[in-house]
Amino acid sequence: MSERLLKIEHLYQYFPAGGFGKHKKYVQAVDDVSFFINKGETLGLVGESGCGKTTTGRTLLRLYEPTKGRIVYDGKVLFDSGDVPVMDDDGKDILENGQPKFGAKTSVDMRPYRREMQIVFQDPYASLDPRMTVGDIVGEAIDIHKLASSKEERYNKIQSLLQCVGLNSEHANRYPHEFSGGQRQRVGIARALAVDPKFIVCDEPISALDVSIQAQVVNMFEDLQAEMGLTYLFIAHDLSVVKHISNRIGVMYLGKLVELADSYELIFHPVHPYTKSLISAIPIADPKTARANKRIALEGDVPSPLNPPSGCRFRTRCPYATEQCAAEVPKWREVSAGHYAACHHLEKA
Ligand code: SF4
Repeated sequence: MSERLLKIEHLYQYFPAGGFGKHKKYVQAVDDVSFFINKGETLGLVGESGCGKTTTGRTLLRLYEPTKGRIVYDGKVLFDSGDVPVMDDDGKDILENGQPKFGAKTSVDMRPYRREMQIVFQDPYASLDPRMTVGDIVGEAIDIHKLASSKEERYNKIQSLLQCVGLNSEHANRYPHEFSGGQRQRVGIARALAVDPKFIVCDEPISALDVSIQAQVVNMFEDLQAEMGLTYLFIAHDLSVVKHISNRIGVMYLGKLVELADSYELIFHPVHPYTKSLISAIPIADPKTARANKRIALEGDVPSPLNPPSGCRFRTRCPYATEQCAAEVPKWREVSAGHYAACHHLEKA
């Protein structure tokens, strides 16, 4: 079996949104999400804007403190609220005498892990300090983690990082505004790589780029992974991009993970109605196949995560919704080896 690098179990992220006492309101951004990522793997996470993908990525890095759940990185428990069941490697809750087994309350100091667990942000311009040169932006991470013992070593490291992401040595003296969007994203990637990470959350890293540049940046992510053995959580709203880079793909809707499978399996044999609608929206180059492909258009808007629908959160837009869907939260179940989905009526969808 492949070695797990990261495992999140029953992760919740609720943000307070006003009100007092029992009228206190919460934005339920991430609700009971569990998955693992193997070493050297890319897990894609897709869904419409506001579905909780980015919050999941930031919460597992503990840039946001989780409301509840467990985060295990490289065998070490980084966070455990102590009140959610422990899961085995197949995603099933571990039982003791028929009762769920619970972990111990834990919240470790993240500083030793900050170096290994990095993030590349969506908006390369907003995430780079406009007053710093690119050399200083990349060098800052080297300084913070004391990764160079001399000025010369620091300089050489910056140069090799810029080269690694397809920039040249002269770029080190320039400021972010002097670069194109694609180049700025390369600077953001060089900054993340400066600390020799093992795991990178790629948070919509190509959404702000021109389509012509997106393929270049995706290819670069793949090359870097092959060279450095990196592990990615690749977040994007565009399934057509995610399918190229991911080994497995998870689909989120309104804070819930609704389906997760091997990339090929998910694209060609989706089982959840929401995944099916996302896949039907992928543009097809061949006009004949495109005509034969039936687009599944969803009606209505995504409901507010402040007050999500009862039962299945997708039910207000699902063509197969029944009374059971309003009454019960669908269970996360394995429909075939390694293929999971949460829906009461998979046979209809
Ligand atoms: Fe649709 Fe019901 Fe399945 Fe939800 S549980 S996706 S509402 S059929």
